[in-house]
Parts: sequence; C-alpha cells; structure tokens
Amino acid sequence: MKQSAKNYKRIVVKIGSSLFCSQKECLDFTFLNQTINQLSDLARSGKEVLVVSSGAIALGMRILNLKSRPKGLSDLQAAASVGQNALMDAYSRIFNANKVNCGQVLLTRDDFSDRKRYLNAKNTLNKLLELGCVPVINENDAISTDEIKFGDNDQLSALVATLMDADLLIMLSDVDGLWDKDKKVIKIIAEISSSVKSLASSTDKKTSVGGMITKLEAAKISIDSGIPAVIANGRTNGLIKEIANDPASAGNWTLFLPKTGSLAAKERWIAFGTKPKGKIVVDDGAKRALKNKKSLLPVGVIDTHGNFASGEVVSIVDKDGNEFARGMASVFCRHLEEIKGKHSEKEVIHCDNLVIL
Ligand code: GLU
Repeated sequence: MKQSAKNYKRIVVKIGSSLFCSQKECLDFTFLNQTINQLSDLARSGKEVLVVSSGAIALGMRILNLKSRPKGLSDLQAAASVGQNALMDAYSRIFNANKVNCGQVLLTRDDFSDRKRYLNAKNTLNKLLELGCVPVINENDAISTDEIKFGDNDQLSALVATLMDADLLIMLSDVDGLWDKDKKVIKIIAEISSSVKSLASSTDKKTSVGGMITKLEAAKISIDSGIPAVIANGRTNGLIKEIANDPASAGNWTLFLPKTGSLAAKERWIAFGTKPKGKIVVDDGAKRALKNKKSLLPVGVIDTHGNFASGEVVSIVDKDGNEFARGMASVFCRHLEEIKGKHSEKEVIHCDNLVIL
C-alpha cells in the first residue's frame, strides 16, 4: 500500500447514473458542478484524472421521454446515442469553465479482448493525459451488443484502472460505502471474502445496472491488480479531493487494500482484460502443478469447451467446475481434443502465460 499522498497520481473516478439522474431531474447540475470542479482542481494540481461515466442511457431515456429502461437492443442503443451526446455536452461545458479540457473515449469489450486494440486504447488515453486532458470514458452503448458488452461501468472502471496502471480507483455511489450489518460503513477491507460479499446487494433502480455486488467485483479486479479501490458517496461535496489526497485516512468511505505480489501488465490482461474464449477442465494433479507454477500438459486435461485458437485466453476449471486459473492456450481447441489425457511434452499452456486467480 502506497502511504504517501503524492503517490496517488493517476486516479480513475467512476460516476454512476444514479448520482446525476434522480427521479426528479436528469442532469442534476448541482452534483455535476461540484464533482467536476473537484476533478478539475485535481487535474490542475498535477494529478492525472480519468473519468468513467455512466448516464448515456438514463439521460437518453429522459430526453426521449421513455418511462422505463427499454428492453429491445436497438431502443437501448438509440437512447444511449442521444444521451451520450447530452452527457458529453455537460462534461465539456463544466470542465471548460474550469479551464480543463476533456476528451470522450467510448470503448467496447472487444477493445479489451484484442490485445492490439487494448494497447491502442492505452496509447490514446496516455496521450490525452500527456496533453493535460481528462478522458471521459463510457461503454460504446450505441453500437455494443450483448456479446461485446462489459455489462456495467463498475467493471469498466476497474478494467480502465488496470489498463492504465492507475494508483487509485474511486467508485462514486449514492451510499457512503459498504455497510456492515448495523449499517455502519466498513472503512477498510483487506480481502473480499464471502462474508464481505454477503453484505452486498444489487440494484433495483430503473436507470442503472450496477449495485454493490458489481462494485465488489470491480474492487476485486482492482486490488488483485495492485490498485487500491474506494467506494464513496459522490453526493458528499469535497470527498473526491479528500480521498484522492489520502484514501487511507479512514474517512467516511470504504477502502479496499491492494494485494501484494500483484499481477504484472500481461498477467492482468490474461486475468481480466479479455473474455475467455473457452474452457479447459483439468484433473487434481494438473491443478496442483499449475498452482506450483508449472505449465499445463495434455496428460492433465480431462475435457475442453468452446472453440479457442492458439494464442487465445481460456478459463481453467477443476473437476467440480470451479475456475481457478486463466491462460493463453498454445494449442487450438480441436488439436487439444485429440491429445487430451495423453503423455506428451507439448505444452497446452506455458507457465509464463498462466495466471492463478
Ligand atoms: N454505460 C451505461 C450508460 O452510460 C451505464 C452502465 C452502468 O450504469 O453501469 O448508460
């Protein structure tokens, strides 16, 4: 855990729809002004700020006068298209009033799954930061379909944090943090255990898709990548600056401590960046060997699922179906089907391309 405040230089801030689209109004300019003013102050003080903002669909619904979230894909896409425009207009106006430039970046799951596109997105975001701009990132909801969706922006924000090797992820919510059973904010969490997970509940709001469960999943991606994550109430004015300066100061928010021995850049991509293209079921001996940093050999493979090519990322599951690792296959699926269970020196996954989860 980085102790000194000045080390939290690169910060990803996730802003959910529920914060600026209430029952009464969308957009809530009081919220947006106080939030963007703080982000601008941080950017001007030398921090590198990246925003992951939801709101396209919620705002599009409002503009198009839709009472509930559309079910059809093209209706959702159209609402997002209209809403994203209005959303960026609001961001640009308030950032510009603060004399800070911002730039829109819309991503789909494929931008993370394909390693070339992943590195390309990273270059664009790095250049924006180098130019002193604040990237405002959202999922490209106007064109994304179920197959290429992140699903929720909590996950997207954690993936952006790992892509950009951020120093801190702040997920703003409309609650103060993760509550314990007495509804008191848990200030520091070292591990996202099953008892921690049991404290979370998901959302039932009309406009947004995330909730505490998706925030915990995102926090896990972040801390496994060595990046501390915070869940905080976006409506408390001044809080973003306080957290950005010292997330470990035990204020009224939940801080998730980063894991030590966290993953290197390529390992993060294997573990979280890309969607696995298939599944390899292995026996107990292979499971033990993989956990001891050995490569996967055909003899330990019981079964394969999906249609993966050599070089694609697959899930590795044990006999009971529990995923415990991910790796980049060195053989394609049909070939593995032929050699599974057989003694052969051919590596199915090389230990350097394997991540234990
Ligand atoms: N990308 C969606 C939007 O802008 C929101 C997804 C989410 O709320 O997590 O409407």
